[in-house]
Amino acid sequence: MIKFGRKIKEAVRAIDNLSKFKKFSKLKASYIEYDKFADSNLRQGYFCYNCIYWVNTLGGQCMLVKNEGPGVMGKKSNVIAPHGCCTGYEPNYDKIDDTRKGEQHKKLSTADVTDVASK
Ligand code: SF4
Repeated sequence: MIKFGRKIKEAVRAIDNLSKFKKFSKLKASYIEYDKFADSNLRQGYFCYNCIYWVNTLGGQCMLVKNEGPGVMGKKSNVIAPHGCCTGYEPNYDKIDDTRKGEQHKKLSTADVTDVASK
């Protein structure tokens, strides 16, 4: 019974923390969205598509940045576009293609990065 009460307290605390979490505005995150990059290869570049925070729902959302409001260039698209980017960018190595040549710059995947820690 004590364990069950502790579990409830943990769940309430987790919900409380979630309700305190606020996303950044596009301006505060320095979000940029150029239409000329819409046809780019999204797997080769610093794009929201390759970012670990990007969620592909309803045209694109981000876990850190609000989809409403203007970006740095004043554009109001109401989505976090796959061809957008901001200062919070963190690469998702399962999606990005590293176009640099040479052994020292070979393509990495998340498995490669996480395997380093276990070696
Ligand atoms: S680059 Fe910025 S806006 Fe785009 S998904 Fe990542 S954190 Fe969100």
